[in-house]
Amino acid sequence: MTLFEKIVARQIPANIIQEDDDFIVFHDINPQAPVHVLVVPKRPIPRLSHAKEEDAKLLGQLLLKAREIAKSLGIADSGFRVVINSGPDAGQQVPHLHLHLLGGRPLAWPPG
Ligand code: 5GP
Repeated sequence: MTLFEKIVARQIPANIIQEDDDFIVFHDINPQAPVHVLVVPKRPIPRLSHAKEEDAKLLGQLLLKAREIAKSLGIADSGFRVVINSGPDAGQQVPHLHLHLLGGRPLAWPPG
């Protein structure tokens, strides 16, 4: 099981914001901004580079879910960033596809 599957199974605690059949959304344990939330498809695709054509609907829903959560956390108008780390050079730590939703402060660009 991946770390995030263990959170879904309640084997590891997390500050969960929302859960439905396809996604779980919770606060990052090491937040890099006032709002730092992880949007995680329950189906454990290891990384974005492993996604397939048949994952197109899920990937679209992932962005819409990020939009919905940004609205609900009050950062839709001030602005936010979504990040998907895929693989070693991106520093991906957890091999289970997830989207970082960051906001609540001005975010520098380019990222490191
Ligand atoms: P990645 O580097 O794989 O894109 O992002 C993994 C994220 O998961 C990191 O931002 C890290 O802080 C977060 N994380 C790692 N372990 C846990 C945990 O046990 N609980 C929560 N809520 N977040 C975690």
